[in-house]
Amino acid sequence: MDYVIEPAPIAAVPVVGGGSFPVHRIYCVGRNYAEHAREMGASDREPPFFFMKPADAVVPVPEGTTGTIRYPSLTQDLHHEVELVVAIGKGGRDIDAAAAAAHVYGHAVGLDMTRRDLQAQMKKGGRPWCIAKGFDESAPIGPIVAAGERGLLTHGAITLSVNGQPRQKGDLGDLIWSIAETIAHLSRAWALQPGDLIFTGTPAGVGAVARGDVMEARIEGLPTLRVMLR
Ligand code: MN
Repeated sequence: MDYVIEPAPIAAVPVVGGGSFPVHRIYCVGRNYAEHAREMGASDREPPFFFMKPADAVVPVPEGTTGTIRYPSLTQDLHHEVELVVAIGKGGRDIDAAAAAAHVYGHAVGLDMTRRDLQAQMKKGGRPWCIAKGFDESAPIGPIVAAGERGLLTHGAITLSVNGQPRQKGDLGDLIWSIAETIAHLSRAWALQPGDLIFTGTPAGVGAVARGDVMEARIEGLPTLRVMLR
């Protein structure tokens, strides 16, 4: 290709057992656990809603290591959100929930880092969340485990601690919109592509982190994700 400038590198996430998963887009689901929806001020089940992060917001953290991210600019209230991340291996439009598993390559643990004070300002003004959600290094992610025979994750503890102190706790079984339902909804709005990541929402207990803090995010059956703020 006759590019006039050097193309940016492709963001990628390591896969357990070898290889790398190239990232195309990052979709995120808002308010997908009832208790967290309540802590953010919602009352009833509402249709899923989505926002995005740029692919290069990914900070891949190899198994057994501690990743580092910089404390971002423009915020005094950076929050952690531990989330199950679904990696799409096969694209499609208008995917039925019953057929969704065939589109999933694997699962990982991710952090949807959020500039909560900016998000509150944007909500108040009815403005987009990009600046609150889609900033640089806002999507640390652990290694992807191929779904294989086991299929989609539907149950299992999801937790986050900061400096060893428990903060967030939930179970994948409490997702308001399951992985399969989320894929069905998303693929009506966008053509899903191989390489897409879906952050499926966070359980209750979100809170602020400071420089020097170490976050440990766990989902049963997946490698732990450890990230330090500097
Ligand atoms: Mn989130």
